[in-house]
Amino acid sequence: MTSPVFYILVALALTSAMISVVFFMAWKMLGEKPYALSWAVAFLAATIQWSFNLANAWFPNWETYWITVNAFALVVITLGLRGHCQRTRCKRLPKNLWPYAGMVYIAVVWTTIVDPHIGIGTALIPGVASLTLFASATTIIAHRELPRPAEWAAAVSLIAFGLTQLAAAGVALMQGADGNETWRSLYLHFNFLTLPAGYTGTAMFIIFMLASDLSEEMKEIAVRDQLTGLLNRRGFSEQGAQAFATACRSDRPLSVIITDIDRFKFINDEHGHAAGDSALCHFARVLSAGRRTEDILARVGGEEFALVLPGTTLEAATKIADDLCSLIDASPIRVDGNSLPMTASFGVATISGKDANLSDIIVRADRALYRSKRAGRNRVDLESSQVLRALDGSLQPISL
Ligand code: GH3
Ligand code: MG
Ligand code: MG
Repeated sequence: MTSPVFYILVALALTSAMISVVFFMAWKMLGEKPYALSWAVAFLAATIQWSFNLANAWFPNWETYWITVNAFALVVITLGLRGHCQRTRCKRLPKNLWPYAGMVYIAVVWTTIVDPHIGIGTALIPGVASLTLFASATTIIAHRELPRPAEWAAAVSLIAFGLTQLAAAGVALMQGADGNETWRSLYLHFNFLTLPAGYTGTAMFIIFMLASDLSEEMKEIAVRDQLTGLLNRRGFSEQGAQAFATACRSDRPLSVIITDIDRFKFINDEHGHAAGDSALCHFARVLSAGRRTEDILARVGGEEFALVLPGTTLEAATKIADDLCSLIDASPIRVDGNSLPMTASFGVATISGKDANLSDIIVRADRALYRSKRAGRNRVDLESSQVLRALDGSLQPISL
């Protein structure tokens, strides 16, 4: 009867090969992310490693077999961690992990050929694997303030696998220099019992994490304007509705500025669509400068932008709009080496007790913008005086 280890090794080689194919496909289909390629190659190396484990009889001697499989095991470990570092753009760990893998490999060769020690020689790879698994989990959790559920799941699976590898290393070490048979048997049983679940489990959670990355990317694309990188109308509606609800709950002020580039059609017609596009990006940059993190800035139409300012009174919002109006007037765009003046008109409105949603404020800000356009452009107008008086009798509207 063939040893159960044989069947486990076949299962490990085949599942590693399949996981490698999945990561290669993920790399090709999900935007050629370098970390997907690192993991694909890691599982390819794992496939080779388990195949060599199976074919150990083909090696001229045990030492050659041992240092060969361990070389592949180190490639698996190093690429596994490297993938997590690439995905999270980790700065805490060294960018190049290969010199460290090289040092571990020297220790493997040393304890196999130069000064043989079965305990240390066997414990090295699971010991280093446990450390890199813990490092990978920490990297995933530490790289953003609020890790997503899929990231927590992947990190927990890596830690669980790391713990089993740490235990395996401990048991391996107990074999001593000459390899105590009882500990050796325990090591083999423990390691081959935990490895299949560790390999496939962590791979599954990592693939799930890639899927959640993709869904996050899609959500982000759905709410962003491609040209300026600002929120689009959909993103503005979502975030604006939240800001409105928060303002109502907390009884804090909230103001809205709507702005539209003046005679933008002229820029397009006279200087071309590309110049129009760069004018839009320039305008977006001017509006973004100095914004607080809670402010919501969006491109809500062709050359129309909206700014929601939580915790900001009409007076303060008017000052902000005035500053932006002067700033845009003072910063012409560059077209074909010439500077081209650009101005914009602004409408400002603030929350009132009667507003059912953000759109009610936007309607008033839009009306104010319309008045600003009619009154000659390059200026700021406020919502109508009736609304102003209902809110704060002391405020003086700029125009009616
Ligand atoms: P006003 O001062 O009254 O706002 O006049 P305007 O010319 O700015 O406004 P109008 O609505 O007549 O023209 C807006 C132009 O914006 C028309 C449209 O072709 C252009 N536009 C809309 N989206 C884009 C875009 O993504 N890129 C470029 N280059 N132009 C755009
Ligand atoms: Mg315009
Ligand atoms: Mg317009």
